[in-house]
Amino acid sequence: MAKYTREDILRIVEEENVKYIRLQFTDILGTIKNVEIPISQLEKALDNKMMFDGSSIEGFVRIEESDMYLYPDLDTFVIFPWTAEKGKVARFICDVYNADGTPFEGCPRYNLKRVLKEMEALGFTDFNLGPEPEFFLFKLDEKGEPTLELNDKGGYFDLAPTDLGENCRRDIVLELEEMGFEIEASHHEVAPGQHEIDFKYANAIKACDDIQTFKLVVKTVARKHGLHATFMPKPLFGVNGSGMHCNLSLFKNGENAFFDPNGELQLSDTARHFIAGVLKHAPNFTAVTNPTVNSYKRLVPGYEAPCYVAWSARNRSPLIRIPASRGMSTRIEVRSVDPAANPYLAMAVLLAAGLDGIKNKLTPPAPVDRNIYVMTKEERLAEGIVDLPATLAQALENLKSDEVIVSALGKHLFEHFVEAKEIEWDMFRTAVHQWEREQYMTLY
Ligand code: GLU
Ligand code: MG
Repeated sequence: MAKYTREDILRIVEEENVKYIRLQFTDILGTIKNVEIPISQLEKALDNKMMFDGSSIEGFVRIEESDMYLYPDLDTFVIFPWTAEKGKVARFICDVYNADGTPFEGCPRYNLKRVLKEMEALGFTDFNLGPEPEFFLFKLDEKGEPTLELNDKGGYFDLAPTDLGENCRRDIVLELEEMGFEIEASHHEVAPGQHEIDFKYANAIKACDDIQTFKLVVKTVARKHGLHATFMPKPLFGVNGSGMHCNLSLFKNGENAFFDPNGELQLSDTARHFIAGVLKHAPNFTAVTNPTVNSYKRLVPGYEAPCYVAWSARNRSPLIRIPASRGMSTRIEVRSVDPAANPYLAMAVLLAAGLDGIKNKLTPPAPVDRNIYVMTKEERLAEGIVDLPATLAQALENLKSDEVIVSALGKHLFEHFVEAKEIEWDMFRTAVHQWEREQYMTLY
């Protein structure tokens, strides 16, 4: 059921003295875009008449077809907790439509809805996501530019006084709560300067909207504390990087379809098929879940990030872990995803991979309960454990070879994503890095 009607919105903005409306959407690379309109334009926006120039958005459309429309999703209406001088600011998250009134294929949010329809055709009602985004806080310099200086020496679950980021994190949590987030946990992560805030799971669209809002709030509040928050996957060599573990489950009419009290590990066949599908396609969807050059510096042994394709109900080195809770909270935790991923695209490919497992009744390999980091390549091969791609270039080649994943993105998103990412890889490949000079300058 819809949360707000048009009349509710008009009444609330009046009562709350909202003066500006932000219409938000996400581009292919996962960046939030935002058009701010004065309240006088609200009715026009609610009539889906807000036009923008799609050709100025990365990977959207060419100049010739540039008129696009934003259709606000009324349920995403939120008033920001901060007040502008002349009144409050509220926002809607929007889907992007073509001038002829058809949904725009290149809109990541719309695309996820399209894949969700495929799930519904198989009889499931919800795809739920509980994300665990991690991030680093770095100090800002006098000019307001981020430095590489951390503001604490804390470690996992540490408390002040080592954790100076704690005040900042607490403010972030308060602000998120004011915006309606249900925060489940907030703690220092393993690396100095690294934090994690977990919020309650929701259906995939809402959870992705929440991730986008979350990143915006974290960055805004950090700045007020003289800090720069980054979701870059591996900002520092030699310590943990930042992941965004995704807890996933399928529901059927309010029942968790992954739970079977009589199944092995109390997992249903549906859960097993889903796991098998995710494992099968993992090397090929990694370009989407780990979309930057830097993402692959995180997926290396020894830093709690997965680099091999396996699953386990016990330890944390595999790609998929099954957290201990059962019943309604039965879920799989996909540990490879990083917070640089466009969440809508990441969910589309994960869901498509899992559904492929369900449709084809795929069986997962046996769970691996050993620490995979310490196994030799031969031992891994003997257990059928393959590697995740080691570079963005490899990941893109894999992506192109997988029809299931390509069709989860749709033609437009697939082509524009690959094009943008190949340029990114090429820029990295041809740049001369500091590491090379350190290695070779005096040697040769
Ligand atoms: N930071 C680790 C990663 O890169 C995860 C740590 C954890 O288990 O929460 O995925
Ligand atoms: Mg964590």
